Amino acid sequence: MAIWTTITQILTGLGCFLEYLHRFQLADSPFCPSCSNTVESAEYVAFHCRRFCEERAILAKAFEHPPSHARFVQDMCSTITKWDAAKTFAATVVTKLNRVDWERKAQKREQQLLLQQQQRQQQYRRQTQTLEPNTHNSTELKTRQSLSKA
Ligand SMILES: [Zn+2]
Repeated sequence: MAIWTTITQILTGLGCFLEYLHRFQLADSPFCPSCSNTVESAEYVAFHCRRFCEERAILAKAFEHPPSHARFVQDMCSTITKWDAAKTFAATVVTKLNRVDWERKAQKREQQLLLQQQQRQQQYRRQTQTLEPNTHNSTELKTRQSLSKA
């Protein structure tokens, strides 16, 4: 991921976007977790997703109009101020998405560990259940037998 700059990720869609990650089975779903039934593509994230309204507003101020996919490259290459704003925008968005991706993976790992623990506990319970009743029963049986004899 480090080989691509954040602006390149926004422009090409190759990077931390669920559409891309899902294509390579690195994410369970391609859909944005905040906007229902919308594929989380780079274009969607940068220009439409409601999670990045604040970042987009800052960029709009620098661009002097709302940023759009069609004019993004033209805008960011027009002045050094706009270039810097685009760079900051891309870095902020990609950093946020990477953090979300990391949290998602950590959560998945935690769920897997919990599942493994539950399976181990079930296995242990099954093993002790097959052992316990027999020893218990045979002891009880012997006690009953010795009592009935007495
Ligand atoms: Zn969204």
